[in-house]
Amino acid sequence: IQRTFSIIKPDATKRNLTGKIVAKFEEAGLRVVASKRIQMTLAQAQAFYGVHKDRPFFGELCEFMISEPVVVQVLEGEDAIAKNREVMGATNPADAAEGTIRKEFALSVGENSVHGSDAPETAAQEIAFFFSGIELV
Ligand code: ATP
Ligand code: MG
Repeated sequence: IQRTFSIIKPDATKRNLTGKIVAKFEEAGLRVVASKRIQMTLAQAQAFYGVHKDRPFFGELCEFMISEPVVVQVLEGEDAIAKNREVMGATNPADAAEGTIRKEFALSVGENSVHGSDAPETAAQEIAFFFSGIELV
């Protein structure tokens, strides 16, 4: 059993799609074990996406992530990291497979509705960035 970290991004929270996205996770066999709605600060967005700080879209990405509240979650399941990436679909919704979250809901490569950790190390870091020990059971 593995845990991963997920963000339901501003384009999705704004369009009231949280429940539909959570349903996709649950249908894929992922369990929500922690969840909260937060307003990210610019400093938090910049730190969270620090790996992309030299990319041309970094400024736009951080501004987008603070444009509305987001829902941060910890998802648990067999192979949760890979399973979540699979149900999310490709970064660009134009390339995303049928039935994936990004295919159904994303607006563009930037406003793509969800984030999911890409490896065990980043999952552990990202969970610890947003959740404290007592919030995780
Ligand atoms: P995430 O890390 O959010 O789960 P990802 O791993 O599929 O997405 P990354 O390459 O890590 O994709 O990019 C992080 C995020 O940066 C993307 O989800 C998207 O919101 C944004 N992004 C990526 N490429 C572009 C681009 N070309 N133009 C605008 N925004 C982009
Ligand atoms: Mg990524």
